[in-house]
Amino acid sequence: MKILVTGGAGFIGSAVVRLAVARGHAVVNLDALTYAGCLENIASVAADPLYVFEQADIRDRAALDRILAAHQPDAVMHLAAESHVDRSIDCPGDFIETNITGTYNMLEAARRYWVARGKPEAFRFHHISTDEVYGSLGAEGMFTEDTPYDPRSPYSASKASSDHLVRAWHETYGLPVVLTNCSNNYGPFHFPEKLVPVVILNALAGKPIPVYGEGLNVRDWLYVEDHADALLLVLGKGALGRSYNIGGENEARNIDLVKTICGILDQKRPKDAPYADQITFVQDRAGHDLRYAIDPSRIRDELGWRPSVTVEEGLERTVQWYLDNEDWWRALQNRDGVGQRLGTKG
Ligand code: NAD
Repeated sequence: MKILVTGGAGFIGSAVVRLAVARGHAVVNLDALTYAGCLENIASVAADPLYVFEQADIRDRAALDRILAAHQPDAVMHLAAESHVDRSIDCPGDFIETNITGTYNMLEAARRYWVARGKPEAFRFHHISTDEVYGSLGAEGMFTEDTPYDPRSPYSASKASSDHLVRAWHETYGLPVVLTNCSNNYGPFHFPEKLVPVVILNALAGKPIPVYGEGLNVRDWLYVEDHADALLLVLGKGALGRSYNIGGENEARNIDLVKTICGILDQKRPKDAPYADQITFVQDRAGHDLRYAIDPSRIRDELGWRPSVTVEEGLERTVQWYLDNEDWWRALQNRDGVGQRLGTKG
């Protein structure tokens, strides 16, 4: 299959690109290389004849038309997005433009391309989204694919909007779409402003490890390479127009996740005092959703997918990766906003 991946220089998109090429798919990686994009993430496939990179912005409709016509993909996997909740609090406009208008452009460009080719049944537009569209849970319950949308941050509202557009393009124009809504990812190549890398890198630097509020927010953590595997499965076998929730079956409170990472570092890079001594509670995020939890029954029962690693195994691999790849993260620490407290301008 030839797959056009948007956002393939980002954290999850690059895992999809690497896995797709490893499985013999041709990949066209369309990415604008914003502050979050990094060509080092796909350096391992850059010279592969199956791989092509196109620097383009999904807000630029003409560029999308040109790239689709030039490469003639069999499927689109749409991951390009502004993805950081804290940045969405400070600069919501960027999220509206890329996540909503950009997805609209992708849908229209894909639809015109699909129509021009005679509406091939096998074509797929796979929209990659988040569990955050469902809002916040209390202590009980889980998100199913039928949970009503209730987004509460500019990020999740923009992703929810894009999900609605994708469903509308399926119902109205018959565009062959599949959707996935995934829980929090972690793993190699995670941009150093997100929780897991912040914990690892601040711990190693001897700096305070910031934990929002009391650290009681609960997330379901999924290893990024498991997510990429699930996405390729849904692309190949997902039912038309259907959405699938993807989770790691690994619920953890933030404070417990942070302490687990500190414990792994204590073993791998011991120092005089435990890393957990650096944990510092800071002002909570505005509108911080309390708990997300994924009911993964549909993808498990219909497509036979389960995560392959526990959060303990995945975090151990992740910490080791950051210890082994200092050049990668040091270069990104100079980028705009990294290392600063974001999300306080509201
Ligand atoms: P990321 O921020 O690491 O990467 C986003 C990529 O998109 C970057 O390479 C960036 O350069 C590119 N991009 C941004 N704006 C663009 C534009 N206008 N045109 C073209 N390219 C642009 O994000 P991620 O964490 O890899 O997330 C990828 C997707 O998965 C997003 O759609 C996100 O909503 C979704 N998602 C993420 C998580 C998570 O835990 N990170 C969980 C569920 C779903």
